[in-house]
Amino acid sequence: MPVELTTLSQSSLQDYNDCPRRFELRYIQGLSYPALETESALENEKHQQEGEYFHRLAQQQLIGIPAEQIGKLANTPNLQRWWVNFLDLRGLKALRRFHPEITLSAPLGKFRLLAKYDLIGLADDGKVFVYDWKTYRKRPKNEWLHARWQTRVYRALLVRASAHLNDGKPFSPEQIEMIYWFADFPSDPARFPYQADQYKRDWDALTRLCEEITTASDFPLTDDRGKCSYCPYRSYCDRGHRAGEAFDAELETEAQELFDINFEQIGEIAF
Ligand code: SF4
Repeated sequence: MPVELTTLSQSSLQDYNDCPRRFELRYIQGLSYPALETESALENEKHQQEGEYFHRLAQQQLIGIPAEQIGKLANTPNLQRWWVNFLDLRGLKALRRFHPEITLSAPLGKFRLLAKYDLIGLADDGKVFVYDWKTYRKRPKNEWLHARWQTRVYRALLVRASAHLNDGKPFSPEQIEMIYWFADFPSDPARFPYQADQYKRDWDALTRLCEEITTASDFPLTDDRGKCSYCPYRSYCDRGHRAGEAFDAELETEAQELFDINFEQIGEIAF
C-alpha cells in the first residue's frame, strides 16, 4: 500500500539517484526486501549487525563509559579488531565538545530532510568535524565517497540546522570537515572539507531533487543494470533472481549500504 512520504534522507535520495524504481518500491510503496536466503546474504546480514553493534560501542565510549567496560562487549573477531582500532583514533583527542548519535533536520520543500550523525565534534580552533564510522570490507575510493549523497547531505544540513550547537549561529561551510573513518582501514580515513560554493551547489541540488520527487508521475527502472546486480528488488523488476558475484569495491560497498537501516524504515522519529 502506498505510504505518505514525509521525510527524505541521504539513503532515500541515494536510492532515487541510483534507481527511481527502487525509491518507489522502498519508500512510496513501502515494500520490505524479499528475504534472500543465500550464504552471502546471511553473511552480509551478520556483518551489518556487527557494524550496528560497533556503532553502539563507539557511542558509549563517546558519552564517557569507561573503555574497559565497553571492550568486554566486543565479543567477535571483527568487533575486537574494530574496537582496538577505534581506541587508537587520535583525531578525537583534539575535540572539546562531542555530539554522538545526533539527528539534525530541516525543511526541504514539502519534506523534512533528516540525517543521523555518528559524531559531530567541535575543536578548540572553531572547526567542526562530522565523523561517520564505516565497517566496509573494502576501502572505497574517495571520488566515489565524494559523490555520494551522504557526503553532500551531511555537510549541507549541518550548515542549515546547526545553530543550536553553536550558540545560535550556524556553522559556516569553511568550519566543516566530514571524515569517514574505516574501522578496518583506521589509518586511511577519507576527509572532505567544505566551502561556501559547495554548500550553495549542494543545497540547490537538494532543492531541485526534492521538486523532481514531488512532481514525479513515474519512477523508471535504472538504465545501469550494474545497480540491479546487488539490488534485492530484482524479482519485482524482472532483472534476474540471483545476486551478481563479481563486485568491485564500490559496488560491494553500495550493496552493504543498501541494507543499512535508515529513517524511513524505522518509522516515526520524535523531535
Ligand atoms: S532491480 Fe534494478 S531496476 Fe529494479 S529496483 Fe533494483 S536497481 Fe532498480
